[in-house]
Amino acid sequence: MRVRRWSDLRKIDMSRFLSEKLSTLKPYTPGEQPRDQRYVKLNTNESPFPPSPKVVEAASLEAQRSNLYCDPECTELKRAAAELYGVQPKNVLPVNGSDEILYFVFMAYGDETHPIAAPDISYGFYPVYAKINHAPLHKIPLKDDFSVDYRDYCDLNETIVIANPNAPTGICMPVWQIEEIVKTNPDNVVVIDEAYIDFGGESCVPLTETYDNLLVIQTFSKSRSLAGARLGFGIGNETLIKDLNTVKYSVNPYNVNRMTQAAGVAAIEDNAYYLQNAETIQQNRAYTQKRLTELGFTVLPSCANFLFAGDGPIEGGALYRSLKERGVLVRHFDLERIGNYCRITIGTKEQMDILLTTIEALLNEKGC
Ligand code: PMP
Repeated sequence: MRVRRWSDLRKIDMSRFLSEKLSTLKPYTPGEQPRDQRYVKLNTNESPFPPSPKVVEAASLEAQRSNLYCDPECTELKRAAAELYGVQPKNVLPVNGSDEILYFVFMAYGDETHPIAAPDISYGFYPVYAKINHAPLHKIPLKDDFSVDYRDYCDLNETIVIANPNAPTGICMPVWQIEEIVKTNPDNVVVIDEAYIDFGGESCVPLTETYDNLLVIQTFSKSRSLAGARLGFGIGNETLIKDLNTVKYSVNPYNVNRMTQAAGVAAIEDNAYYLQNAETIQQNRAYTQKRLTELGFTVLPSCANFLFAGDGPIEGGALYRSLKERGVLVRHFDLERIGNYCRITIGTKEQMDILLTTIEALLNEKGC
């Protein structure tokens, strides 16, 4: 019988009907998407640039055919993405944002007897996906400088998930280190989450031709301005893609909707627009990094569209709250080791200037 006492329930968070297996699950907390006022929004690593006009046109046209199911195989999108990534369509799985394929991965390769190893400070969804799939999460500490030590993952003999660049640090590993990890764990899947790779890192997609245990994950949410459309990709050996397709066809075959499939193809065809935007973000990042350093903050070296800054004249949590009061939203994680830092998305030059002048005003008020 599934009747539970009120005291057993997490107050209004759950009904008395909820399966026991979810009762201790702490869900992922997405970044704030406030509607109460207009913020300079630098908290969820979105692109400040709209999708290209061709993308908007392609998606609008497709919206007119929304009465029909979309192509579950995403044939056109797979073809275009395969060309973009220099692989074959059979090596690509389009998904509903990279979060979805991460879920597929944890479901496919993790369970009670198959732990998943990941850095202790990384993307907040990994522990949630591990828990919901009953896979123990083997957390491997970052080094003191917040970088990943690739040697910690060599010969590990566990499924491995690493974000490269890592989040929220922005620090990138070179491809040769990833190859060492992949090579020394031939009997386990190594997943490299390249959500932020287009902002200065080197992708390890070419290694997927050599290693059948490497799965690379990319997203169109960041460099390609499609966070709201939900589009991501898995790239890897045909056998891994088949595994993940088994999960997809067991959960939601029409996972990438019509508008998003069309938007994705158009975005790939308009690649120059996105390369230009990624270049601008990198320039704005260098500018912001320099100014924040001059203001007394430690700024980690970033290959992503965000900076992780802290240990400065204002404590991390206080900086987040004071900026929010003044209409600038950044992300703060109230966690051990990183609580004194804020993650700041790189936006337009104008947005970064508002951030910087707001911080300067705060420092002046504090007499710093
Ligand atoms: N991986 C990392 C490291 C991320 O930071 C994010 C974005 N929050 C994602 C994956 C998921 O992005 P999306 O689902 O929008 O593709």
